[in-house]
Amino acid sequence: MGDIKILIIEDDNKIINFMTMALKAKGYKLIVSRSGNEGILSFCTENPQILILDLGLPDIDGIEIIRQVRKVSEIPIIIVSARENEKDKIEALDLGANDYVTKPFSMGELLARIRVMERFIERKNSQVQETVYIFDYLTVDTEKHRITVDEKEVHLTPIEYKLLLLLIANRGKVVTHSQIYKEVWGYTEAGDQQNLRVFMSSLRRKLEKDSNYPRFILTEIGVGYRFAYE
Ligand code: CA
Repeated sequence: MGDIKILIIEDDNKIINFMTMALKAKGYKLIVSRSGNEGILSFCTENPQILILDLGLPDIDGIEIIRQVRKVSEIPIIIVSARENEKDKIEALDLGANDYVTKPFSMGELLARIRVMERFIERKNSQVQETVYIFDYLTVDTEKHRITVDEKEVHLTPIEYKLLLLLIANRGKVVTHSQIYKEVWGYTEAGDQQNLRVFMSSLRRKLEKDSNYPRFILTEIGVGYRFAYE
């Protein structure tokens, strides 16, 4: 895609250096802010296309930044969080962050997440409404409500169908348990995870060739599910 401008809000110099080196080498334009307030200012003045946000900042909480940014923008936000902040990570995703990487992360992992966000931006800009999705041996025709695995039609329950479409609409990124409960069932709070697991495993049995090693619907332990993009 090229010329994508990324705003990094992060206070850890080591991580900043590590990210800037790799992202510059990949041709991204970068703006780095080392505090929350500086980050918000850069966000407002620099017009970035992707935001990489550390949750633990010296001045404002990263969660608060998501809240403020989401009031005015749908910019893709990738959270960088420490492993011990599991709760914050889920809160960040629920507030509208698009994805996360957990420290320590590999650059390959972060680059993959960024590529997913680029495709997300492309899809949003293209305006073309996709109606037929083809993922390897899985085809989902949203107009005819027809789903095939290896060209054989499979029948989904209405809930399974809604679940699948939600995951596909967000493909490549994680969808949290409470987002799923909200979108599929209309609940305001996350329901029982065990209940959701039952629906997911039924869906996997219908769509995956080997549901023990899912190809499409991946579990993000403790967080939610991700439809594997490629
Ligand atoms: Ca930090």
